[in-house]
Amino acid sequence: MNLNIGVIKGDGIGPEIVAEAMKVLDQAGEVYGFTCSYEQLLMGGASIDVHGVPLTDETVAKAKECSAVLMGSIGGDAKTSPWYQLEPSKRPEAGLLRIRKELNLFANLRPAVLYEELAAACPLKEEITKGGFDLLIMRELTGGLYFGERGTVEENGVLTAHDTLTYNEEEIRRIAVRAFDIAMKRRKNVVSVDKANVLDSSRLWRKVVEEVAKDYPQVTLTHMLVDNCAMQLVRDPKQFDVILTENMFGDILSDEASMVTGSIGMLASASLNETKFGLYEPSGGSAPDIAGKGIANPIATILSAAMMLRYSFDQDKAADAIEAAVSQVLKEGYRTGDIMSEGCSEVGTEQMGSLICEGIR
Ligand code: NAD
Repeated sequence: MNLNIGVIKGDGIGPEIVAEAMKVLDQAGEVYGFTCSYEQLLMGGASIDVHGVPLTDETVAKAKECSAVLMGSIGGDAKTSPWYQLEPSKRPEAGLLRIRKELNLFANLRPAVLYEELAAACPLKEEITKGGFDLLIMRELTGGLYFGERGTVEENGVLTAHDTLTYNEEEIRRIAVRAFDIAMKRRKNVVSVDKANVLDSSRLWRKVVEEVAKDYPQVTLTHMLVDNCAMQLVRDPKQFDVILTENMFGDILSDEASMVTGSIGMLASASLNETKFGLYEPSGGSAPDIAGKGIANPIATILSAAMMLRYSFDQDKAADAIEAAVSQVLKEGYRTGDIMSEGCSEVGTEQMGSLICEGIR
C-alpha cells in the first residue's frame, strides 16, 4: 500500500522537524508494510520567497489531490522578517487560514497527553497527574461565534457591539460523527461540552449529539457544562477520553488542556474534513529563535504523523508503534533542550528522530 502524503515543510524549524517525521513514517512503513510518497508543497514564507504569495492556487489543487497533508509550521519573526512588511493578506499566516478553508477542515483535534516521565513540566500536583493522562479535544472549527453575524453600532452616543453564535444541526452532526468515530479508536468515552442551561445553540448541540450517540452503542456519552469542564480539566484530567465541543469553548479548553501537559514541543494536532483527509501539524509555531540550530523538538510533528496514520490511513498498529517508541525514548531519558531535566541525556532534532525510528524497529 502506498500513502500519498502532501508535505508542507514551512518556515523556521518546520523543515527540520518535518524531516524527522518523514524519517519515522518511512521506518514505520518498513515494519508495517506500506510506502509513503511525498508531494512537496510550498506555503507561508517559503512560498512568498518563490511565488510572492503565501499560497498559490496550484498548491491548493495539489493538496486536494493528496490523501493527507503533514505540515511543519509557518511564519517568521514579525519584527525582523521582510514577510511582515507585506499587507496582511500576503503574510505567511494568510496561507494557513486559506488552506484550512479550501480543504473544509471543520474538526480540530488536539490531544493533551502527559507522559509520566515529563510530569515535572506539569503545573498540577503529583497526586493528580500520577500515571499521566491522555485526552483529546475535538473542537468544531468553522462555525459558532467566530463566524456569526457581528457588528458595532452607536445609538445616542453609546457604542454597542454584538456577535452571534449560530449552529445548524448538520454542522453539529458532522463533528459529532467524527468525535464518535475517533472515540471508537480510543477508550470509547465522549464528554460533550456545552452551556445548555443558558444557550439555545447548546440545547440543539445536546439534542443532535444524543441522536448521533444512538449509532454508537459501545461509546459512553455524558454531557458537561463548559464551566464545570474548565474546572475538571485541572481537578482530574484523567477522567476524560474525547471531549467534543463547539468552536469558542474548544478554543479555550484546548489551550487549557495543552498548558497542563507543560511542553509545546510535544503537542500534536489534526484538522479533518468529512472525508478521511486531514491536515496534521504540531501545535507550536516556527520557533525562529532556534531555527537552523538542530535543537528543535520533533516529537509533536512525529506524533502528528502518527495521528495521520491512524485517522487518514487506518494504520492503527503503526500509529501505536510510533507512540510507544516516543514513550520508550522518554523513559530511557533522552530529551531535546526544551524538555531537558537533570539526569537526562540531551539530544538534537535528528538524533531524537533516529532514536524513535530505532524504537519502532
Ligand atoms: P512558537 O511556538 O514558534 O515559539 C514559542 C517558544 O516555544 C519559543 O521559545 C520556541 O523556541 C519554543 N518552541 C516552539 N516549538 C518548539 C519545538 N518544536 N522545540 C523546541 N522549542 C519550541 O511561537 P512564536 O514565537 O509566538 O511564533 C513564531 C512564529 O510562528 C510566528 O510567525 C507565528 O505566527 C508562527 N506560528 C505558526 C503556527 C502554525 O504554523 N500553525 C502556530 C503558532 C505560531
